[in-house]
Amino acid sequence: MFVTRFAPSPTGRLHRGHAFSARTAWRAAREAGGRFLLRIEDIDPTRCRPEFEAGILEDLGWLGLDWEQPVRRQSEHLGDYAPVVEALDRRGLLYRCFRTRKDILDAIGDAPHGPAEAARPGPHPADEEAAFLAEGRPFAWRLSLDRARDLLGRRAWDALAFVEEGRGPDGEHGLIRARPETAGDVVLARKDAGTAYHVAVTHDDALQGVTHVIRGEDLFEATHIQVLIQTLMGWPTPVYRHHALLVGEDGRRYAKRDRSVTLAELRAGGLSPETLRAELGV
Ligand code: GLU
Repeated sequence: MFVTRFAPSPTGRLHRGHAFSARTAWRAAREAGGRFLLRIEDIDPTRCRPEFEAGILEDLGWLGLDWEQPVRRQSEHLGDYAPVVEALDRRGLLYRCFRTRKDILDAIGDAPHGPAEAARPGPHPADEEAAFLAEGRPFAWRLSLDRARDLLGRRAWDALAFVEEGRGPDGEHGLIRARPETAGDVVLARKDAGTAYHVAVTHDDALQGVTHVIRGEDLFEATHIQVLIQTLMGWPTPVYRHHALLVGEDGRRYAKRDRSVTLAELRAGGLSPETLRAELGV
């Protein structure tokens, strides 16, 4: 059974780009006689707001979408994600990172080999870690790609792959070899939330039996690390269909910060969903 989902984060109002993505996924489910799920990815307590979630439901309804109930709201399932982080930690794949965002950005500036290298800060020396722990400093858990490669073995590492039925930003299509190195030692548990996007998204895709992930090409790079997590956890890797991002008349992609193009404002300005769908071709 074909199962896909639209998984917005309620950090702002939806814009045309979201409308295109949501309609594309919904139509694919319809055409395949499959299921369409809506998932609210609200693990970031600092950026997500209930009124944005209400706005998402309103906008998707206006667009003519329907979805299965109950809607999964990740903030209500934080207890599901902690065991994933623990399972990876028990296998020695994680390390504590006490560095601040600024430390990491500064390191990138100083790194001789560019951002990819600096995104792998590595564990702290044991005495430093012990001192920071004793001070009660907050820390995040990072996935060590070196340890993951050692655990899986060279052959399994080289065989990490996914099927791309859409296109990546550079036209990637077909069977793609996953390159987790491009993402670095990603954070799998944030200091404030106890989990992080890559864990919650892969856990939920597996739990909900998602067979096809349909989303914008801005998340294509994230797929490389998500395939690694799926493999480490023994979860299936869905098929991916990334689509190009819509660009506005100024040639810039739509983003939540461009308040003028929210669906709410288009609607208030008298635009009908039929006109918008025709404009977007979905
Ligand atoms: N919640 C993510 C976002 O809004 C999308 C996750 C996904 O489709 O994998 O950017």
